[in-house]
Amino acid sequence: MTDFFFEPAQGNKKPYIGSLKNLLRKFRYPFVPGDRVGIKLHWGERGNRGYLPPDYAREIAAWLIAHKAKPFIFDTTVLYSGGRRTAGESLKTAAAHGYTPEFLGCPVIIADGADGRDVVSFPASYKHFKTVQVADVFDSTQGFVIFSHFKGHMVSLFGGAIKNISMGFASRAQKQRMHSDYHPVLSPKKCTRCGVCVEICPTKAASIQEPDYPQYDLNKCIGCAQCIAMCPELALQIFWNSDMTVFQEKLVETAAAVWNKIQEKSIVINSLLNITVECDCLPGINPVISNDLGFVGGYQPVTVDEESLKITGADIFEKVHPGIPWKRQFSYAREIGFAD
Ligand code: SF4
Ligand code: SF4
Repeated sequence: MTDFFFEPAQGNKKPYIGSLKNLLRKFRYPFVPGDRVGIKLHWGERGNRGYLPPDYAREIAAWLIAHKAKPFIFDTTVLYSGGRRTAGESLKTAAAHGYTPEFLGCPVIIADGADGRDVVSFPASYKHFKTVQVADVFDSTQGFVIFSHFKGHMVSLFGGAIKNISMGFASRAQKQRMHSDYHPVLSPKKCTRCGVCVEICPTKAASIQEPDYPQYDLNKCIGCAQCIAMCPELALQIFWNSDMTVFQEKLVETAAAVWNKIQEKSIVINSLLNITVECDCLPGINPVISNDLGFVGGYQPVTVDEESLKITGADIFEKVHPGIPWKRQFSYAREIGFAD
């Protein structure tokens, strides 16, 4: 099923709940009473200001409850230091951003468990991955709503449904396998030796000894790009250890493997609101680069991302993230049978 539908953001008053209600009415409802349905979303890193408010997730949960399903909201732990590295920290961050069971009307969980160990591996048979390891959420869940904030991203150009399924379901080990293709490289002329990169590096790969410039131990670096994103002087750039297309392909392979598992009873919603330069994983100010446009819904993540990108225009992201071979996500998805 490759059909999709767009519902524009109506009125000037946020949140655009009326628009989301209209979109939900357009779906062929795929769940049955009693189904446990996971709503996969990203509630924003601690200190991030671009994440979606919880009102939309609450509306989706209410829609499911009205159909007698049993929804829950979930995310997974991440590689970065910050407010989502462990389940405890992530739930605190969720609550600080308004994602509480009381407000949402359903549970909020970390699908890979308290310490990131509730994971499962299954065969993938792709070029880069013969297996993928993801949160162990499938046996207890009969359906999924993939609800994504569509926005920019420094290595995939945009982040939408494909990324939400891929990085969003991935175990920390799988996230690391996808991120292993790049590391930071320093422009000393720009560096003020402020130490931010050292402070935030989750693996202690970054170090600095006055009066030298920072160093990055490539044996310890996991390519999370947090230092690159957070350097206040833009003194760090991505150095690709392999062709940049490899990251795009790995991202797609993980998403495809997850989608193979969940496609029978899943729907996909992209929110084209508060479209920021960077993903919601980064703390701090994240400039908005588009008007609020609305919601794209459908039954296939590649279709929904492609249509979202047509509506926003790829140029708004290419201006801020030049040179990313993002089209490879779509061509590779077709090559491996993830999309028609
Ligand atoms: S964060 Fe940037 S400016 Fe600060 S020490 Fe690291 S590279 Fe230099
Ligand atoms: S040095 Fe490597 S591991 Fe440390 S923050 Fe930068 S990219 Fe991440």
